[in-house]
Amino acid sequence: MNGRIGDAVAPAVVLIIGRQGAGKGVQCARLGAHLPADHVSTGDLLRLAIRAGDALGRAVEPYVEAGHLVPDELVVDLVANRLEQDRAAGWSVVLDGFPRTKQQAVLLVERTGAPISLAVNLEVPRDVALDRLSRRMVCLDCGLPGVTAKCPSCGGVAERRADDTPEAIERRLATFDAETDPLLEWLDERGLVEKVDGVGAVDVVATRLAAAVEARLLVSVTDPATATVT
Ligand code: AMP
Repeated sequence: MNGRIGDAVAPAVVLIIGRQGAGKGVQCARLGAHLPADHVSTGDLLRLAIRAGDALGRAVEPYVEAGHLVPDELVVDLVANRLEQDRAAGWSVVLDGFPRTKQQAVLLVERTGAPISLAVNLEVPRDVALDRLSRRMVCLDCGLPGVTAKCPSCGGVAERRADDTPEAIERRLATFDAETDPLLEWLDERGLVEKVDGVGAVDVVATRLAAAVEARLLVSVTDPATATVT
């Protein structure tokens, strides 16, 4: 398996945009495995750096813990490096939690020259998102969110995220509301936005999301070895 969505097309860059609690983490992991594509979550990468205590981790920790956006130059650099490696290897990418602002989208395209294939707006009402966030546990080993202290995927230990406090959740949701409209407008002007209803069982939403992405990319991905452009 070479990670391409079909041999006849360039590696795709798919953005998944949705408020905190929309289910991006779980759905992007599923979509990445399905396409296949590299699932890149900026939140996961930043939390890893914080746990490692490296220079990036020390720089971003105060922002992440308080629920503020990390400065663009740090996060764009992180994503651009990964995207360039993936594209050189022929891999498609599902970006989870990036871009958060129009400026980040512009900077990424300027820096990498990578065209955005599609942006999915994974829609979940604020009250549903709040309810999910109030119960969310995240696996310390694989990063997958769930609702139990033992990760249902890898068996690792899960705990509440440090930024899933009521104050930080409020701040993050407010930032999402303020920053996302201009971002979606910019993407929509380029004909890139596809809406997907994020309310429902995980499997149901995963099927909806895969169908929307596949239809949009006009590629059969059931068997990557023989996938063809339709
Ligand atoms: P997430 O796991 O996507 O909810 O992200 C957790 C936190 O990481 C956010 O509240 C921000 O502090 C930081 N973060 C993640 N992605 C970005 C981004 N694209 N731009 C700025 N900060 C980000």
